[in-house]
Amino acid sequence: MTEFTPQPSCADAQESHSLSVSDAKQRISNLVSTLTAWEKLNLRDSLGRILHKPIISPINVPPHNNSAMDGYAIQSADITPDSFTVQQVGIAFAGQPFNGNIQRGECIRIMTGAMMPTDCDTVIMQEQVETNGNTITIHGKHQHGQNVRSAGEDLKTGETILSEGHKITAADLGLIASLGIGEITVKRRLRVAFFSTGDELRSIGEALEEGQIYDSNRYTLYGMLKRLNVNMLDMGVVPDQKQTLKEALQQAAEQADVVITSGGVSVGEADYVKEILAELGHVDFWKIAMKPGRPLAFGKINDALFFGLPGNPVSVMVTFYQFVSAALQQLAGEPVQPKLVMQVPCVSTIKKRAGRFEFQRGILFEDEQGDLKVKTTGEQGSGILRSMSEANCFILLDENCEGISPNSTVTVQPFAGLI
Ligand code: AMP
Ligand code: MG
Repeated sequence: MTEFTPQPSCADAQESHSLSVSDAKQRISNLVSTLTAWEKLNLRDSLGRILHKPIISPINVPPHNNSAMDGYAIQSADITPDSFTVQQVGIAFAGQPFNGNIQRGECIRIMTGAMMPTDCDTVIMQEQVETNGNTITIHGKHQHGQNVRSAGEDLKTGETILSEGHKITAADLGLIASLGIGEITVKRRLRVAFFSTGDELRSIGEALEEGQIYDSNRYTLYGMLKRLNVNMLDMGVVPDQKQTLKEALQQAAEQADVVITSGGVSVGEADYVKEILAELGHVDFWKIAMKPGRPLAFGKINDALFFGLPGNPVSVMVTFYQFVSAALQQLAGEPVQPKLVMQVPCVSTIKKRAGRFEFQRGILFEDEQGDLKVKTTGEQGSGILRSMSEANCFILLDENCEGISPNSTVTVQPFAGLI
């Protein structure tokens, strides 16, 4: 675990004390280690989980040389430049090998996947022969070893097939099954506790009184965490009261590897939450040079990682996508995948001032010529969650950008399944 050093805080008056997006990512990454706990699972249950121990092949796959075609297995020494004739002396099916010997001038009928007889090294496709009883006349040009799949050509005994940290996919389930392995060792699932803070928040099913709103952040967080395959502990809404908040944070940190809250970290409220977090752990309040998502609290409460996300619904999603998801992957022991970006012409005019990184919500579309373009979703307020529903990408406008005129090229980051 890396030593945690105090960072610029929300209380800093100067904008120059804002952290850049890339520095914030780096600082988070420096503090995150990898879970060491593991469990054994049945193969099927391991889909989407992270390997703790590599998979080493106990066998060759395929275990024996076998035919890649329905046809006739021969000795390549019999091949001549012109047509030639061999005698069929047996037959081999997949799972039912031919166990006799084969002499020069002989062949066996062989089906796809059937084990090659030890004396044969070549298979002639059935479409290239003429049969007359057991007399098989072979036409065409043929090569030594053709249409034979060699033992171990897919996987070799002792070979590392999948390394620690690999995330199990559907293909991997099949690959591991092909080795006859039914149980594998994976990293324990992350436990993530989260709650929303705010006196104004009500949960679904409760009536709204004046000044109150429904809590949506716990639902977006649920959706994004679900995609990351973690165990979730939804702790509901916690009011802006010192003691209740403190107890909720303590309880969350005891039960989870990661604690995520939303709200209560902006300048107006930061000192109050700050006071509690100073008592419980080591958390810094950052002002990040980005929009949306400027305030972000990050650090540790005991052994748990803590992310205090801003309250605005769009900011929650942007900060989760840009900072939290990679940290969770790192903690889970998964290689952090770089987020895909691409350059496309933007058809909208975008106003922006230099000095902060903006994550505008965009819609990638094909124009009449079939060319990929992007437009903004319109109003970009951090409370307009509909912009996230409508969007299929972020338009990334870096610190130096001073606005976009129509048809200039912008960098977009397509939503990669998490949102
Ligand atoms: P805060 O960061 O607590 O000052 O909240 C910023 C804005 O986000 C306020 O307008 C809050 O009402 C709103 N907000 C905070 N938490 C939530 C939530 N869980 N769901 C919807 N809106 C929220
Ligand atoms: Mg609040």
